[in-house]
Amino acid sequence: MITGLAALQDFFFPQRCLACSRMAYGGIQLCADCLRVMPRCDKCCRRCGLPLTSTETAASCGRCLQHAPAFDGLFAAYWYEGIPRKLITALKYSADLHYIPTLMRLFEACSPEIDENSVFIPVPCHAARIRQRGFNPNHEYLRALARRYPIHCDYKLLRRQRNTQKQVTLNHSERRHNVHDAFVLNHPCDYPVVNLFDDVVTSAATVQEISRCLKAAGVQQVWVWSLARTRLATNRS
Ligand SMILES: [Zn+2]
Ligand SMILES: [Zn+2]
Repeated sequence: MITGLAALQDFFFPQRCLACSRMAYGGIQLCADCLRVMPRCDKCCRRCGLPLTSTETAASCGRCLQHAPAFDGLFAAYWYEGIPRKLITALKYSADLHYIPTLMRLFEACSPEIDENSVFIPVPCHAARIRQRGFNPNHEYLRALARRYPIHCDYKLLRRQRNTQKQVTLNHSERRHNVHDAFVLNHPCDYPVVNLFDDVVTSAATVQEISRCLKAAGVQQVWVWSLARTRLATNRS
């Protein structure tokens, strides 16, 4: 539904769709056609976020029942394909931060309720990569979320102590090895529940390693929140 404020914004500041450049309305920079084809994650395991088979339940898929991940659940708004993939990649590689409000509005629209006794932390980049790119996308996404919701964020709880290779270039077991012991806590965590934000989850090796690290430091629950998740079950760690 278009609110009064959004209608005024449409009138005075008409916007173009970030995906197809046609006019976009309702205070969000995606046109109605592009919004309609956004690949929402549904029928997926609440624990690992991967698609379920017809005999599996949403609580846990067969893989999670056999070998549960270190995190307690994974929420992803969209599958990492089509328009979400296009926008997330454009932001990451062109450093064009004006994609963030639209991506986070989409994320908010389908995310679950936030536990008020929890804290959000971004998956960190190594300092060398931040120098090269100029920013950590996960940090910027969380800042955008924190501007609209009263969430607690700790941007410095976690540090990437090794500059790991890009996960996208590696296979399943190389990814796990690549991130092993890559993260450390800068200070003790004051919250029993941590929400770990990662823009894209592919193999889940990174969020698995961070969850292991947080739980070893006394965190009771870790929930992974992600803009987009790959569907490939073979990529899971
Ligand atoms: Zn469009
Ligand atoms: Zn699962």
